[in-house]
Amino acid sequence: MESTFEHVYFPLTTVSSGEGKEVNIDIYCYCIQFVNICLLGNPTSKTKEWFLVDAGLPHSADNIIRLAEDHFGSMTKPQGILLTHGHFDHVGAIGELLQHWDVPVYAHELEIPYLTGKANYPKGDSTVNGGLISELSPLFPNHGINLENHVHSLPADGSIPGLPEWQWIHTPGHTPGHISLFRARDRSLLAGDAFVTVKQESLYNVILQTKEIKGPPKYFTTDWEAAEASVRKLQALQPVLAVTGHGTPIREEELTNQLNYLVENFERVAVPEEGRFVHER
Ligand SMILES: [Zn+2]
Ligand SMILES: [Zn+2]
Repeated sequence: MESTFEHVYFPLTTVSSGEGKEVNIDIYCYCIQFVNICLLGNPTSKTKEWFLVDAGLPHSADNIIRLAEDHFGSMTKPQGILLTHGHFDHVGAIGELLQHWDVPVYAHELEIPYLTGKANYPKGDSTVNGGLISELSPLFPNHGINLENHVHSLPADGSIPGLPEWQWIHTPGHTPGHISLFRARDRSLLAGDAFVTVKQESLYNVILQTKEIKGPPKYFTTDWEAAEASVRKLQALQPVLAVTGHGTPIREEELTNQLNYLVENFERVAVPEEGRFVHER
């Protein structure tokens, strides 16, 4: 299944693939083909402590390690890896990364079964329409991975060990244990796939990286009621900056306006007209 995926996606080197963006002194966002990872930490600080958020596509480990060393110095190592969720495009390189960096991985307790080989995600749903990526999505790997004792449940109080300024927010719907990360001090949000800033179902939009807030990628989202509640929860935080799992970072007025629009029109904008999981609403 993995080789099919690579075959399908090898030519998909988007214009922003391989591009890094320092969205803040301590938030560095990097696009691997069509999915983002983040380095959280200030490279000018004395300790240079940092966390990796999400782990990209299969075979991108060398790329991620090189990026981290360019940013934080050679032989650098994160304090841990945070996973917004366990879909293949967010955990693809984690096995190789853990061989290189023996660090703890944190995820929501409801996501742990998919990260310890006990559960698989449903296959991508090609019936949601919306474009070529949806049509190809049944080919995407949907199996859980097994990180064994590397992976830990995040503390129930919303804190993140080693990252005192940040809290995790449960934003289920796209997956049961999906989380977003929020820093109240400057209202920075890492939203994972709770919402994204590109119409992820459409190859055309993904290549052009047309910026437009959308609901979670449709072909993988299983609970639309929860997904809507999660977007409302994030809107209520009044974020000033949002970095999403797909698409480019978005700020201030543009973010506020588009997020409000998404919340007010969620049913029409985000929920597919048909699909295997739509009846569950
Ligand atoms: Zn996802
Ligand atoms: Zn994703």
